[in-house]
Amino acid sequence: MLFAFPSLKNYLVVMNPVIVVHHHEITLKRGNRGYFEKMLMNNIRTALKDFSSQFTIRGGYGRFVIEFDSPDTNIEELAQRLKLVFGIANICVGVKVEQRIETFCSIAGQLLNDTSFQTIRVHTTRPDKRFPMNSVAVNVKVGEYLCNRFSVRANLTSPDETIFIEIVEGVAYIYRSKIQGAGGLPVGASGKVVSLLSAGFDSPVASWRMLKRGCNVLFVHFHSMPYTGIQALEQVRDLVTVLTKYQFHSKLFIVPFADVQNEIVLNTPQHLRVIFYRRFMIRVAEALAKERKAEALVTGEAVGQVASQTLRNIRVIDEAATMPILRPLSGMDKEETMATARIIGSYDISKEPYDDCCSFLAPRNPATWASLEEVHEAESKLDITQLVEMGLSNMTMEEFFVPQLQKKSMKEKLNTTDKAEQVVHA
Ligand code: ATP
Ligand code: MG
Repeated sequence: MLFAFPSLKNYLVVMNPVIVVHHHEITLKRGNRGYFEKMLMNNIRTALKDFSSQFTIRGGYGRFVIEFDSPDTNIEELAQRLKLVFGIANICVGVKVEQRIETFCSIAGQLLNDTSFQTIRVHTTRPDKRFPMNSVAVNVKVGEYLCNRFSVRANLTSPDETIFIEIVEGVAYIYRSKIQGAGGLPVGASGKVVSLLSAGFDSPVASWRMLKRGCNVLFVHFHSMPYTGIQALEQVRDLVTVLTKYQFHSKLFIVPFADVQNEIVLNTPQHLRVIFYRRFMIRVAEALAKERKAEALVTGEAVGQVASQTLRNIRVIDEAATMPILRPLSGMDKEETMATARIIGSYDISKEPYDDCCSFLAPRNPATWASLEEVHEAESKLDITQLVEMGLSNMTMEEFFVPQLQKKSMKEKLNTTDKAEQVVHA
């Protein structure tokens, strides 16, 4: 069970079940706070879409309050969903009550019934200064009541149980559990990026990091079929399904890359092959990004991880792009990346073996410190525009939706005019 919470049915007469959601970093954004809050509100509505008839949501004071009409709503399920919404600091499951100290005492007592604990703390905040007692006085009063009622002691530093009381907007919210939210910024608030997604550990984590910074992430994957198998693409689809939980709806662009790679293999020196693969991936991804009005590219590269990721080679790859290439893992160890992969649920997918398109005719001794002059010289033998066009013209697109958007997605698909669109996953 996510949190111990006595059946809400018992309290229906005196109080309303609520979830109080505290905003994360957006509380720092003074100038465009309204914009961020609107994004967060929309994302919460989307996350809870299939429950929409059962609650109302209101904003104010760095928090949203989700109120339920019925005590039968599966509040645990809702809280689990909210844990994946970026922009939320914490999720508090509790009740809304009138502003009366006697009510605070009795409701706090009810919330702690059936619980075994030795020490207690009461933590009150009072943005609504119309309430006559200050927060310390409320803590003392309710704390004394609870200590007497349950024969326990107060402990302000590491109590077994904490009761939170928020006195705000003419009412009060009381809760016993604060579930940690996902933090970050609401997805969509920072704009759009195109992430180069492989089946490995790094790029899903890099994508997740950018989702957490409020970006909408479009995914692009390159494959070398028929020279490599379908395994990598299947894994990428599974990874997009995992990442879609954080943005509700994703687009995956799939680029057959074998023909482009053949041209590279035939016309450039072997030791620079992987660098050219990457430069062309970046060019195709950038063309897609421009078409889709994205602002930057994202990769899972980390400085020094493999030959193509020395500082020099990163610079040589970068030079093929005009857009910024974000590398959120650039300063991370593999261990740190894998730990995040475990948390977000991509680890078990990425750990499966697969052949990436970069392994296609990979050189035995790849350049670790490529010379830009040599790269330019070799690349002059290639028709860059034509190769990028080759990648783009065979590109297909698949869409992924969280289950609560499933019905809508099917309807929209029937009306779509997007020529790259092919398959809908839900
Ligand atoms: P690993 O976790 O095994 O290192 P990786 O995907 O990071 O997997 P790298 O060879 O390190 O593999 O690739 C560096 C980056 O290049 C990836 O993080 C990804 O952003 C991009 N990339 C590599 N292969 C592909 C591919 N087939 N399609 C799209 N992007 C790719
Ligand atoms: Mg890597």
